[in-house]
Amino acid sequence: MRSVIVLGSGPAGLTAAIYTTRAGLSPLVFEGAEAGGQLMLTTEVENYPGFADPILGPDLIANMRAQAQRVGAEFISEDAVQVDLSRRPFRITSQSGDTYEANALIIATGAKAKLLGLPGEQRLMGRGVSTCATCDGFFFRDRNVIVVGGGDTAMEEALYLSKLAKSVTVVHRRDQLRASKILQQRAMDNPKISFVWSHTVADIVGDGKVSGVKLRELRTDRVVERPTDGVFVAIGHKPNTDLFRGQLAIDDNGYIIRTRRSATSVEGVFAAGDVHDHTYRQAVTAAGYGCEAAIDAERWLQQQSN
Ligand code: NAP
Repeated sequence: MRSVIVLGSGPAGLTAAIYTTRAGLSPLVFEGAEAGGQLMLTTEVENYPGFADPILGPDLIANMRAQAQRVGAEFISEDAVQVDLSRRPFRITSQSGDTYEANALIIATGAKAKLLGLPGEQRLMGRGVSTCATCDGFFFRDRNVIVVGGGDTAMEEALYLSKLAKSVTVVHRRDQLRASKILQQRAMDNPKISFVWSHTVADIVGDGKVSGVKLRELRTDRVVERPTDGVFVAIGHKPNTDLFRGQLAIDDNGYIIRTRRSATSVEGVFAAGDVHDHTYRQAVTAAGYGCEAAIDAERWLQQQSN
């Protein structure tokens, strides 16, 4: 039985762990089988304040985890496989079948960028393949990049990259975009952005770093290789909310809906980071949301005991 359980060990979960520990709440942190979240797939991080020199994503997470551990947070290196939010204390079951109880729960399970599932994509992730233009665009200054996808995310990534890269080519599998009209128009009007329609990426090639893509024309099945310095996969995100379906208010895209600040539709359950935030998706905003949820949880617990 705990005052607080934190689910997740990306910047949101680890910040929530640091704050709730320092508030004397002795949290238990489910760090999950894929601990550390999306920063574990990143190479250099240059936009997290406090590091004058770039820091590797996994090193940033290791520092945050060590900080949480130093102040006294306790970790379970397993996924939560079942959650019962129907009554308090909430019950959380781990992979190994143990059940834990908590008066308050902070959900910081994050989101996953959807991937194309290509061999070269995994091999070159962080070496020219990215799922975040705001995070990695800077490394492609005056380079030629490809953005894959036809939705709002793809248009936003292309527009952001157009400010840095020499050229941006959007590769889309159909002959029309799914994105909102305004973003479509902005992308089409941008002289640096061009479109390759009705093609999929058959693979991403490069020796140690991306040097090109193989594009398949869907009508003819013909594959051509095209040089590029970077590939931004922008085909959507999947928030990690399967555990909470039917128990918490979740929007059509699977993100947790927050009611007031970090509070959710279930009293005592708070949400932080990419599991609810489809707008900013930055390590620093996730950390900020983790802080917010920890303080909200602490105040809520205090009110319960008054
Ligand atoms: P999305 O709307 O689901 O679009 C995903 C795009 O990727 C689609 O064009 C889809 O092609 C393509 N795609 C999916 N799987 C693919 C695959 N395996 N290979 C190649 N292409 C693939 O996702 P999103 O753009 O991330 O947007 C998600 C939600 O957030 C939407 O509701 C969006 O409006 C919202 N959003 C809004 C803003 C904004 O308003 N500023 C910004 C970002 C996101 P098809 O078109 O052929 O399906």
